[in-house]
Amino acid sequence: MTGWRGRVLHVDLQRRRWRVESVDRAILRAVLGGRGLAGWLLASAPEPPLVFVAGPLTAGVLPMAGRAVIAAVSPLTGTVRHAPAGGRLAAALLRAGLDAVCLTGRADAPVTLHIGEGSVEFADAAPLQGLETSHRLNALRAPRRAVVCVGPAAEAGSPLGCLLQEHGRPVPGGGLGLAMAGRNLLAVTVDGRQPTAVHDPESLRRMRRVFLRLIHASPALAGASGIGRHGDGAFFDLFAARHLLLSPSPCASHAAAAEPLGALAYAAGIVPGHVGCTACPVPCGRTVHGQPLPDLAAMAGFSVRIGGGSRALAVRAFHRCLVLGLDAGEAAAAVADHLDAVGLSCPEDVVPELLEGLGRGEGLVSSPEAGMRVKGMALPCMDPRGAWGLALALAVGVQGPLPDACVVWHQEILRKPVPVDRFSWSGKARLVARGEDAAAVAQSLGVCSLALAALGMEELAQALAAVTGWNVSAGDLAAAGAALVEQDRRLHCAAGFDAAQDDLPPQCFEAPAGDGSIPPLDRRAFLEERAKYYRIRGWSASGCPAGAIANRPNKQGGRHA
Ligand code: SF4
Repeated sequence: MTGWRGRVLHVDLQRRRWRVESVDRAILRAVLGGRGLAGWLLASAPEPPLVFVAGPLTAGVLPMAGRAVIAAVSPLTGTVRHAPAGGRLAAALLRAGLDAVCLTGRADAPVTLHIGEGSVEFADAAPLQGLETSHRLNALRAPRRAVVCVGPAAEAGSPLGCLLQEHGRPVPGGGLGLAMAGRNLLAVTVDGRQPTAVHDPESLRRMRRVFLRLIHASPALAGASGIGRHGDGAFFDLFAARHLLLSPSPCASHAAAAEPLGALAYAAGIVPGHVGCTACPVPCGRTVHGQPLPDLAAMAGFSVRIGGGSRALAVRAFHRCLVLGLDAGEAAAAVADHLDAVGLSCPEDVVPELLEGLGRGEGLVSSPEAGMRVKGMALPCMDPRGAWGLALALAVGVQGPLPDACVVWHQEILRKPVPVDRFSWSGKARLVARGEDAAAVAQSLGVCSLALAALGMEELAQALAAVTGWNVSAGDLAAAGAALVEQDRRLHCAAGFDAAQDDLPPQCFEAPAGDGSIPPLDRRAFLEERAKYYRIRGWSASGCPAGAIANRPNKQGGRHA
């Protein structure tokens, strides 16, 4: 089989047994791989598994196409989470002869799973326990090996714990750390040497040139102010210029703006190193003296979001998050809620101490449901009041408020491929549906969703045809994307979620955003556009596909009727 391997490794952690099952090519065509295959595995298993999945375009030749997906029902939200993972994971899975690893059960003692070509080893993870993440990674690294491990926070039971990979970068999003640590699984390594067969190598080389040309022509990716030049912090300056950064109050927004906090300010006087995914021509991570500089979530989270802060604090806080294995965006939101609840306004002094508490699995004063959250997950650094398509996307996203799950913000903020008015509801329901479909396709094929600022379904279809020999069109891919969104929605509704959770925090409808210049959202218009979105999807007024039945109450206490 070209492109896909057609094989999924199933591991029962409780019984310490494993088997490899074939997956029919017709199923792989329908779900594509990556996020789509992850959703299919989640839907097929008797109990929700933790899955690691490669996409068919992730063999390492195409730029911005080396992303795996790690998925589970997130303990943070109670609903499905597909986290895009960089590093070597996708390529290593394919080299081990696998499209996916599906983990069920809970080990009776802490374990590390070493996966090779036709082999699975259950190793005692006791030596890793209590170590900081960098020491865990050092103990597990090997040439060409993919490593995914939890940090101390997840091991201590924190739902804000994230996963970390061999290059020291986090897999974005809280919840998955606990999804892994809760199985007594502290680390997974994947090794393999099998070459990946490609249907038409010459066409694939041509598509590589096409991808590179389009990526280099994208100002957001490769321009003078793009992420290739400044890392993903380049978006900080863009969002700040558009008053789009989420802050607790207009005063805090002004206070945080007192010191330059964006990527350009970080780079002043230093020459940052670059870190990113394999074969990415615009690597979005930055380091200095080998230490990672804050990513966008940390840069914005430990400054504007907490209503103060500085570059020095963001650097320290991000470093502690990595050491403790905390998701920086979620940790910053928890700190912001805490500061708000207790009325503290000196974040420089208290933030490090609060992070240590989160790393020990301790809760802060505010409840997880408090503050600017949707479905229990913190809003990203982008304020939904500043872009109304983004607002709808953050509300209806099945995984929680994730900008990379719907690329409508590319049109509203990056103004690509076609600019649309960010302060208008007109046509946003359809744009959100299309943006979700496109993101689902990209994440299923193994393509970074940021690449959609340069690439369209046409290029992705041609690349997929070159890799697999499947004569697929852009329209076929768009239809597959819609089906994958529905697949996730069925899981979501089965977990007890419905329209009641497809909402934004009350502040978004009651108070102005940013520096006070952006008014609150019109709730009636928001609800009308959300109803239109459900109709476009063919779902009921309660936001569920026909036949989707809740089989358990959701984490927010609701149940779909
Ligand atoms: S932009 Fe960043 S996340 Fe996307 S492929 Fe490049 S390095 Fe990876």
